[in-house]
Amino acid sequence: MTAEILCVGTELLMGQVLNTNAQYIARRLAALGVSIYHQQVVGDNEKRLEEAYRLALSRADVVITSGGLGPTVDDITKRTAAKLLGKELVLNPEADRMVRERFAQYHRKMMGNNQSQAMFTEDTQILLNPNGTAPGAIVPAGDGKVIIHLPGPPEELEPMFRDQVEPWIMARSGRVLVSRYIRIFGMGESEVDMRLKDLEVKDNPSLSPYCSLGEVMLRATAGADSTQAAEAMLEPLIEEIRSRLGKVIYEIREDDGGSLAHTAVRALREKGWTIATAESLTGGLIASTLVEVPGASSVVKGGFVTYQSISKTMLLDVPEETIETCNVVSAEVACAMARAAREKLQVDIAVSATGLAGPDGGTPERPVGTVFLGIATRETVYSIPLHLAGSRARIRTLTVKHALHAVTRETKGEREEV
Ligand code: ATP
Repeated sequence: MTAEILCVGTELLMGQVLNTNAQYIARRLAALGVSIYHQQVVGDNEKRLEEAYRLALSRADVVITSGGLGPTVDDITKRTAAKLLGKELVLNPEADRMVRERFAQYHRKMMGNNQSQAMFTEDTQILLNPNGTAPGAIVPAGDGKVIIHLPGPPEELEPMFRDQVEPWIMARSGRVLVSRYIRIFGMGESEVDMRLKDLEVKDNPSLSPYCSLGEVMLRATAGADSTQAAEAMLEPLIEEIRSRLGKVIYEIREDDGGSLAHTAVRALREKGWTIATAESLTGGLIASTLVEVPGASSVVKGGFVTYQSISKTMLLDVPEETIETCNVVSAEVACAMARAAREKLQVDIAVSATGLAGPDGGTPERPVGTVFLGIATRETVYSIPLHLAGSRARIRTLTVKHALHAVTRETKGEREEV
């Protein structure tokens, strides 16, 4: 099956709105094993939209549109498709009911033109919209092809796609696709690629890497006639990846969620540990990232933001002498911060960070990007030196990620030798 994404909206062309719908749909389609060879963006102009439809239908089995399903005159997506297909738009009772319910739910008065949102061609399959007033639609477009209309707002489009379009695609293709998401920290994209190159060229199961700052996520997908068959195809691939990458894999999941913070919170919860933070260059970001995880309150006890040296002394009793002799960016200060945070808040583990985020302040001995993490537990205190590079934001974000990873590893008893 091939699909083409057609996003409608002048605001997208003008760069006023980032086309996240195209990214979302493309990612989901790729996960389902649907081929996408083209995407189009077109403004609210009937003639150009008609051309875009013609082109898309000439080269794809399924054309997925986003946007332009509202009640106003510039909402032309459905109307233009119907005209091209030589069909009339008529009131669809199911869609009409849904639109009325939604207006009642939002305590909004329906205008005459709102009924246009419930107008579809006779042969349309309606997609309900639990999050907005515009129903979506699956419209037969001749020669076994279809046009799928989805609303523009991502909070409406994404659940509609996930809950209604994906099952439709799977049923139509008669196949089951199973994916595993392998999250990696501590190995660059090119090294991962080098180690797995021969596995990445295969189609089924397929393996694709996605990169974000400091992290790589691999999606392994197998398509088969049954879930068990697909899982059986994935198993040896996952084992092979494990043996080639080892400890840099921090999680393997069935969806593309999760994060270093989720993994850290889960590891702490499983161990029954509480945590405290002592932060300099990250200014509370480590604590904040942990607290983003629902349920973090059972493990995160609190933290200290000790940005200037004086606050390290006043709040964490780091001796002025240590700061003077060793430097504020040093293993000694990182350890002292972590030790004090752990003792003061009576937690099982504390993590600290001190370093140079830049852009100014580097020296040949301690260039910008020099960071020391500290880890303190009831048994031990140690520091982890990091040599990071890039912008201030990048250095701070990477420090947080390294800190979360170090916490997970210590909690799981997989401490790195430093
Ligand atoms: P509505 O019923 O809200 O009018 P609609 O289906 O007509 O929905 P549009 O009017 O085209 O959708 O877009 C509504 C909003 O949705 C836009 O202002 C924009 O914020 C967002 N949006 C539209 N298309 C995209 C896109 N491709 N990616 C991300 N956001 C989008």
